[in-house]
Amino acid sequence: MLKRYHLNKKFKNNGKHELHSGECPLLPDKSSLIFLGDYNSSSAALSAALAYYSNVNGCAHCASESHTG
Ligand SMILES: [Zn+2]
Repeated sequence: MLKRYHLNKKFKNNGKHELHSGECPLLPDKSSLIFLGDYNSSSAALSAALAYYSNVNGCAHCASESHTG
C-alpha cells in the first residue's frame, strides 16, 4: 500500500535527517518537511530521500525497517 513520505529538513542530535510517513504522530511541523512522494515501502522512500541528504534515517515509529539507530 502506498504511503506518503516526508523528510525532515532539520537533522536530529545524531546528525541524521529523519524519514516519516504522512500519518506518523511524530511528524514534524510542515515547514520543516520535504515531501518525497508516495512509496510502497520506507526503503523506497529512503532511496528518494538520499537524493537530498546522504545521512538519512527512518523514523523508529513509522519507518522502523529503515531505522538504523
Ligand atoms: Zn515517523
